[in-house]
Amino acid sequence: MSLLTVHGLEKRFGKSQVLAGVGFTLNPGEVLALLGPSGSGKTTLLRILAGLEVPDAGWVRLGKQTLVGPGIFLPPENRGIGFVFQEPALFPHLRVVDNVAFGLKGRDRRRKAEEALAALGLTAFRNRRPDQLSGGQAQRVALARALAPKPRILLLDEPFTSLDAGLREGIRSEVRAAIRAQKIAALLVTHDQEEALAFADRLAVLHRGRLVQIGTPEEVYHRPRTPFVASFLGHTNLLKGEAHGDHAETALGRLKIVPRARGPVWLSLRPEHLALAAHGVPGKVVDRAFKGHDVTLWVRTAAGELRVQADYRTRAKPGDAVRLVPREPAVVLEGEA
Ligand code: ADP
Ligand code: MG
Repeated sequence: MSLLTVHGLEKRFGKSQVLAGVGFTLNPGEVLALLGPSGSGKTTLLRILAGLEVPDAGWVRLGKQTLVGPGIFLPPENRGIGFVFQEPALFPHLRVVDNVAFGLKGRDRRRKAEEALAALGLTAFRNRRPDQLSGGQAQRVALARALAPKPRILLLDEPFTSLDAGLREGIRSEVRAAIRAQKIAALLVTHDQEEALAFADRLAVLHRGRLVQIGTPEEVYHRPRTPFVASFLGHTNLLKGEAHGDHAETALGRLKIVPRARGPVWLSLRPEHLALAAHGVPGKVVDRAFKGHDVTLWVRTAAGELRVQADYRTRAKPGDAVRLVPREPAVVLEGEA
């Protein structure tokens, strides 16, 4: 059974519709990454789940309990939800251990705080004040504080954004371990696509307040539903075509397609699904970027300028004539690019 069920959420601020018909489920132990451009409603969705904002319509259930719905509103402190924001937001005058114990109740609150600190490797910092911590340490304290009351769900709103790359990976795996150990679930808002692809069990893409796709990272990356998802998650080439079942006629010639379709379609062809070859579609290299592990080329063809992820040994440079072959079927998208 799913842990969290969100159904038909609607939210307006004045005239602008910020969330429209948002629904999804979250399973125990699962990390769902929420992706979307700035202003697409990610924070508003998290705030509704936490009880900091009230939806205009729809409902949210955690286990068997309705958190919010027609005529029902459970206050934030009774929801069993932990929230970590982009900034750690610690109490500056309290020691680390008191920050973590702050929201806890009962006689064993000290012990719970110490446990949460230990789980995130923070015991040695227990007596420091927030201004004696690095950014990464402060964010770990914020995580410990959110995890200490043993929430059923952890909401993470771009919590790693202010940390540098090395630190991010470390903290991410600590969060993963804590989520597994406590058998809770997490909803992670991130701008970082690699983070979303690597860290999450499933991804949800929000566009203008609508959930346009939800699935495993592989599903969403390899089978984007719309031109927006295809271009938002990674890079892609969008092509027009006329589909005839398992193939389409395009400016690049006849391409295999998935899934089967008929009639005019928009297609997505990822840069790593195009290869330089002796035979194939002719083009001219207009730009090149060496990335270390591979080389990105921009190639002008009859289908416009295509982005190609070429082998790290590729010598092709601007001005060179090259030929391209697709290595995977193009993906048929819904709607217009
Ligand atoms: P995201 O987190 O995806 O960047 P937000 O949920 O913060 O997006 O915001 C979505 C939209 O709602 C934005 O256009 C934002 O300006 C607007 N918005 C958010 N909160 C409020 C509020 N309290 N009052 C009015 N408008 C708001
Ligand atoms: Mg936000």
